[in-house]
Amino acid sequence: MRYISTRGTAPVLTFEEAMLTGLARDGGLYVPEDIPTLSKDEIGAMTGQSYEEIAYTVMRPFIGDTFGDDQFRKLIAKAYAGFGHAARAPLVQLAPNHFLLELFHGPTLAFKDFAMQIIGQMFQAALSRSGNRVTIVGATSGDTGSAAIEAFRGLDAVDVFILYPHGRVSEVQRRQMTTPTESNVHAIAVDGDFDDCQAAVKDMFNDFAFREEVSLAGVNSINWGRVLAQVVYYFSSAVSLGAPGREVSYTVPTGNFGDIFAGYIAKRMGLPIKDLVVATNQNDILHRTLETGAYTKEGVLPSISPSMDIQVSSNFERALFDGYDRNGAAVASQMEDLKSGGFKISQGAYQTLKDTYKSGRASEDETSAAISTYIKAHGELLCPHSAVGVHVAEGHLGTTTMVTLATAHPAKFPAAVEAATGIHPPLPPRMADLYERDERVTRVANDLAAIQTIIRDGIA
Ligand SMILES: *Cc1c(COP(=O)(O)O)cnc(C)c1O
Repeated sequence: MRYISTRGTAPVLTFEEAMLTGLARDGGLYVPEDIPTLSKDEIGAMTGQSYEEIAYTVMRPFIGDTFGDDQFRKLIAKAYAGFGHAARAPLVQLAPNHFLLELFHGPTLAFKDFAMQIIGQMFQAALSRSGNRVTIVGATSGDTGSAAIEAFRGLDAVDVFILYPHGRVSEVQRRQMTTPTESNVHAIAVDGDFDDCQAAVKDMFNDFAFREEVSLAGVNSINWGRVLAQVVYYFSSAVSLGAPGREVSYTVPTGNFGDIFAGYIAKRMGLPIKDLVVATNQNDILHRTLETGAYTKEGVLPSISPSMDIQVSSNFERALFDGYDRNGAAVASQMEDLKSGGFKISQGAYQTLKDTYKSGRASEDETSAAISTYIKAHGELLCPHSAVGVHVAEGHLGTTTMVTLATAHPAKFPAAVEAATGIHPPLPPRMADLYERDERVTRVANDLAAIQTIIRDGIA
């Protein structure tokens, strides 16, 4: 299996290289050259299988000879052993034709754990084979950073530094980043906002001497390995609901477009998915793009579903690439226009995208109302991101079974949940002592040189 860039000019890579590299050298994102398909019989055989067995079948064709079969099975087993639910991604029924896919039973209570846990195992296995070490540096508004620290803690081929905006992540998110005791993981609180953190990371990747010196690597949401891991729960859930014999639709709370794009890959692999519905909060650039064909940046408005507060949706480039029949030059030119505010998608590509994705948005009031309604009428306490999902899903219910992805546990966003319902969502018992653990964090000014010094000292 070979990986090509969405902008068409970067070197073609293996799975291992694409995973360790992240962003392509031409600025594009890596995608598989061909999408492997599974037959109806192969999909049918997943009925009753464990999540781990399904994960193996779905991911195996994409990884080439990066890992042997037995080794890959072991990595998968380790990745999901720390989840708090035997099904890993259980389904809960909300209404006769509407199900919730609970993706928050991992160690940091958000769906990011599904991808980050297996990425941690794959990085460690690939690096210890080659004898290399890398330094992972990432910026987070909360969920990605906590999932990364949790996934890489104690792995000896990797040091991890996560930059987060001081005072602007929830207490649960902060404690998940600052309480792990392993010396290879480091939380850095930057006096600035999320954009400052992201800019600092970008500057470090562009500082080639530093990049070389510390063997910089990234695991942000454009990493193909992360998208691939997310394809699995579309299969496990659809098969539980009768696939390949029955079609299923999905509504996905969306920010950087990684999760919904994984659903599209599942469909391309042969899973009978009818609709893929993009659900956005008030930062509705993706919904507007799918309605109008024009991608136009506006300012980010902070919302109660902060993990979806974006203007530039990084994985949308992968969707665009397929919309343009995999014409890398066309994608590169649109991304150039994005620098000056936006771009207009050509008629043919726009039609393809509209045939592939539906969309909807939830305002702040609609999100709160959904949290309140779903505990009263459906017995389910939702996090604000999942509430955006069910609100949008309601506009797309029909004869096909709808599955809405629940992307985080309500206890990860207690303030919004309590404001909407009066209920303070408790942490699951296995992490109930989170508030008692000691915190370890380095606070730093929004200054690149100071951040780089912390990283140099941290890996020494
Ligand atoms: C990251 C995240 C999202 C958005 O997922 P994308 O793959 O970026 O579209 C939604 N909800 C929660 C809770 C998240 O952490």
